[in-house]
Amino acid sequence: MTRKVSILGSTGSIGCSTVGLIERKPDTFDVVALTGGRNVTRLAKQARALGAEIAVTAFDDCLEPLRDALSGTGIEVAAGEMALCEAAGRPADWVMSAIVGAAGLPPGLKALEQGTTLALANKESLVTAGSLLKSTAAGSGARILPVDSEHSAVFQGLVGEDIETVERVIITASGGAFRDWPMEKLASATLAEASSHPNWDMGKRITIDSASMFNKALEIIETHEFFNIDPDKIEVILHPESLIHALVGFCDGALMAHVGPHDMRHAIGYALNWPERDHLPVERLNLAEIGQFTFHEPDDERYPALAQARWVMEEGGLAGAVFNAAKERALDGFIEERIGFLDMAAVVADVIEIMSGEGLGLAAITLDSVQQADETARMRAGESILRRQR
Ligand code: NDP
Repeated sequence: MTRKVSILGSTGSIGCSTVGLIERKPDTFDVVALTGGRNVTRLAKQARALGAEIAVTAFDDCLEPLRDALSGTGIEVAAGEMALCEAAGRPADWVMSAIVGAAGLPPGLKALEQGTTLALANKESLVTAGSLLKSTAAGSGARILPVDSEHSAVFQGLVGEDIETVERVIITASGGAFRDWPMEKLASATLAEASSHPNWDMGKRITIDSASMFNKALEIIETHEFFNIDPDKIEVILHPESLIHALVGFCDGALMAHVGPHDMRHAIGYALNWPERDHLPVERLNLAEIGQFTFHEPDDERYPALAQARWVMEEGGLAGAVFNAAKERALDGFIEERIGFLDMAAVVADVIEIMSGEGLGLAAITLDSVQQADETARMRAGESILRRQR
């Protein structure tokens, strides 16, 4: 029997890897919806290759080029946020959530409402609206599977275990592009320098977030939300080789480590094949050649985002939405070369300082309240960028 699948964000780094895995088994999958943003050429090519039912671009001005590229194929085309949500809500057995940023939340929720299995790469959804995502899944009988490599590793480490016996979860961080740079050089780090990751080949935004450790900050919160693990049981360790993705520590002192190549097709494939395992076209590690794994304590002064993640977990409620939106806006400011690399954390700190007295922790989490908090935080971050602009 074939499985119906959809890929939200199919034109991105995670999306393309997912398409690649699905293309290997054309008799196993029926593709319902593919969605993208501005890369219409790639979206149309994927939709043709996979025989998708519908292709949707997030942007209205991309509709005509998409329609032209798919004319005569019988594949439906649509554009805009409502169309993305409609496509995400079409019945499917498995949906990949791989849109970048808070824009992934509404379609992710729509997919969960139809009771599907949601493979979650879009960590921003859990950070901004974890309780809403989980209650929506519980209400429809949907399941959320992790795709982030660290969270897939923890998930795999927990198979057959009692969560009550978990003492600690350790997620690893490569340290990103600037891990060996002296602190005083960081202020002048350029966009090009921040956009190159030492180990992983990923989308531009997550690559820069890896250099600043905002990505790891999101992942700490994601760990807390996904596994309901107390914040004080979550640790981060620098592991420059990026081969151990996470470790789970149990009450008997055992540490279960997940080891694998830096290739997202492993975590994507695990979520695609779950609860089975299937052959995946990823490198088999030669441990003798690798020789050693190294670890270092992260330096809080170098990575202020890590302490900001702790604030989010302590505050709860809408703090995640505020933190993520401020971070996304600060990242836009850095990409537009209006602020420097270190200013990103300073902008987020400004927003936290202004908004932390606003009862964020007590607010109910609904799509509306999350989007409102997101909008306000982006506005505050924009003001901070103006003050700090070069
Ligand atoms: P990319 O930037 O490579 O791809 C993002 C996707 O989202 C593209 O399909 C893009 O379309 C689409 N998109 C962009 N803006 C919008 C919008 N406003 N509305 C709807 N769709 C939009 O990102 P990644 O694949 O790197 O990351 C995707 C998610 O997965 C992120 O949440 C990231 O944190 C997470 N993740 C990524 C990993 C990786 O290795 N890349 C690892 C673990 C998690 P287009 O390109 O056509 O404009």
